[in-house]
Amino acid sequence: MSISENIKAVEAKVAAAAERSGRKREDILLLAVSKTKPVETIREAVESGLLALGENKVQEIMEKYEPMAAYAPEGERIHWHLIGHLQTNKVKYIIDKVDMIHSVDSRKLADEIEKRAAAAGRVMDILVEVNMADEESKFGVKPEETEAFLHELAGMEHIRVRGLMTVAPFVENQEENREYFRQMRELLVDMNAKKIDNIEMDMLSMGMTGDYEVAIEEGATIVRVGTGIFGERIYPERG
Ligand SMILES: *Cc1c(COP(=O)(O)O)cnc(C)c1O
Repeated sequence: MSISENIKAVEAKVAAAAERSGRKREDILLLAVSKTKPVETIREAVESGLLALGENKVQEIMEKYEPMAAYAPEGERIHWHLIGHLQTNKVKYIIDKVDMIHSVDSRKLADEIEKRAAAAGRVMDILVEVNMADEESKFGVKPEETEAFLHELAGMEHIRVRGLMTVAPFVENQEENREYFRQMRELLVDMNAKKIDNIEMDMLSMGMTGDYEVAIEEGATIVRVGTGIFGERIYPERG
C-alpha cells in the first residue's frame, strides 16, 4: 500500500475510535512519526494533509527541518514534535524548531528547556512522560512521582505543561494496554483536580501503531503513528 492509502486506512480507524469515545475526529491529533524516513517519503504524508510530524532524535529534526518546510502547503507550516528521550545538551538545537516536547521527565531537562525557551523569547509546550507500566527499559516518571514533578514545573514561566505522554508496553493484542491508557486518563484528571498553580492539562499523548484505537477509546488526544503510515523502519546496522 502507498503512504496515502495507509493514511486513509489509519484516518478511518481514528475517526471510528473517536466516535466510539464520543468525541470528534478534530479533537484528536494524528502525529505522523517520521523517524528514519527521508524527506521525499515524509513529503507524501504532508501532501496527504498530515502536517504534524514526530521525531525521536534531535539530529533528524535538524536535518529535515529546512527541506520539509518547502513542502508545507501555501500559508501553512510543518509542526514538529520531539517524542523521544531528549538529552539536556541538545535542547538548544530544537528550542526554536519544535511545537511540543513530549518526553519531559526530569528536573534537569525542564530547567534547560526553561532557560533556552526564555532566551528564545517563547513558551514551550511540553508533556510529562509517565512510565505507566513501570518498565525498566522505559523513560518517564513513575505515576506516583507525577504530582511532585508537576509542582517543580509549576514555577517555570517559559514552560506550559499541556498534558501527559506514555509509551505503553509492546503487545500483540492492544486490549492488553487498555488498562494503562485508562490509568493515564485517570492520572490526568487527578492531577488537574490538585489545582497546582499554572497546571491545567488537556492533552494525552498515547497510542502507537499497535494500539492507537484503544488509546483513543480511553481518551488519547494525540496518537503517534509511524509504521502504520510509513511502513516498517529499516535501521542501519550497528558496529
Ligand atoms: C517510534 C515511536 C512511535 C511510533 O511507533 P510505531 O509503532 O511505528 O507507530 C511512537 N512514539 C514514540 C515515542 C516512538 O519512539
